Amino acid sequence: MAPLSLKRKLAILSDAAKYDASCASSGSSGRNSLGGKGVGSTEGMGICHAYAPDGRCISLLKILLTNFCIYDCAYCVNRVSSNIPRARFTVQEVIDLTLGFYKRNYIEGLFLSSGIIRNGDYTLEEMVRVARGLRQDHDFRGYIHLKLIPEASPALVLEAGLYADRVSINIELPKDESLLALAPQKDVGVIKKAMGGVRYAIDEGREKGRRAAPKRFAPAGQSTQLIIGADTASDGEILQRSERLYGGYGLRRVYYSAFSPIPDSSKALPLERPPLMREHRLYQADWLMRFYGFERQEIVGEAANLDLAIDPKLAWALENRGRFPIDVNRADREALLRTPGLGVKTVDRLIALRRQKAIRLEDVKRLARGLSKVKPFIVTADWTPGALTDAAGLRGTVAEQPRLL
Ligand code: SF4
Repeated sequence: MAPLSLKRKLAILSDAAKYDASCASSGSSGRNSLGGKGVGSTEGMGICHAYAPDGRCISLLKILLTNFCIYDCAYCVNRVSSNIPRARFTVQEVIDLTLGFYKRNYIEGLFLSSGIIRNGDYTLEEMVRVARGLRQDHDFRGYIHLKLIPEASPALVLEAGLYADRVSINIELPKDESLLALAPQKDVGVIKKAMGGVRYAIDEGREKGRRAAPKRFAPAGQSTQLIIGADTASDGEILQRSERLYGGYGLRRVYYSAFSPIPDSSKALPLERPPLMREHRLYQADWLMRFYGFERQEIVGEAANLDLAIDPKLAWALENRGRFPIDVNRADREALLRTPGLGVKTVDRLIALRRQKAIRLEDVKRLARGLSKVKPFIVTADWTPGALTDAAGLRGTVAEQPRLL
């Protein structure tokens, strides 16, 4: 068979990588090549984002080293039994592509994942060679995200983290039993142990970083991805898993990726992808747990799903109308954060503003960029909602248009 051209490999291996949602790149340490030293930067405008044809964010040169894989995960298009065109980059090809795209300003970094070739160690060693080559041979200062192989040896994982800004290990399915059923060669114990090792290395690097300026292990932390809708897990179970991952492994992000039906898939998998709105609501709920002081149980019960028609904070407020209206001029930050329509920035601006003047409805409108959602839940110097907060038709009045359903 004739060897594949680089262009063809790129087409296959960037397409194969599009199913991985973990492509954001916040939280890295600042590096740049201003002053003529090195290549690339994580600063300036920040990492830019592009979108794959399916609308997924692909901010970096996002590729697989290879889509050959010895595993047979039922939900994955790259599984060994899948009848798809295969390709494999050499280490040097990935380095050259990254540098070439970077210098042409197409990308600001590299997201590198891979199918498993031979075994975990062999695969991760190849990926580490790419990252090491970029950093050491080319003084590459752009962003690198490596998708680690949980079965690889801890020493290789440690080396990977010295070159990567962010590392991730995909836990893939919200329920352990689903992973066992759909990805029998994966071992959830091995995955969790690897995530624990990464957490330890990140924490240790942070400690050392306070005393000296060593190379820090994965300064942008670790993340993971959960596939939504490939198994029967409810939103409550998915968020419970996320809650444990954030708490137990200090993850920076859990990404939610709606399952995409794949060709010749197992009968155990659904034929249709879940509504994209489900993914969106999970991100909103995740955000509430991390930045708005909500417990998972307040947002959704273990066996329940999120309301697709309205955002989870609004759903909570409608269920807890006895807590409203809150006085924007007096309420504490926690209560303001729980108010529909008020984001973290808006709340902080309101708190700063009320030190100078009594807040009026017009101020809220300006800072919150709209009033429809917030008005029934607040009191200001010139506004009180009266019976509106408890009105029977309130949900219909404040509900969003169900986009993306
Ligand atoms: S190990 Fe990764 S690439 Fe291989 S089949 Fe499973 S999910 Fe796909």
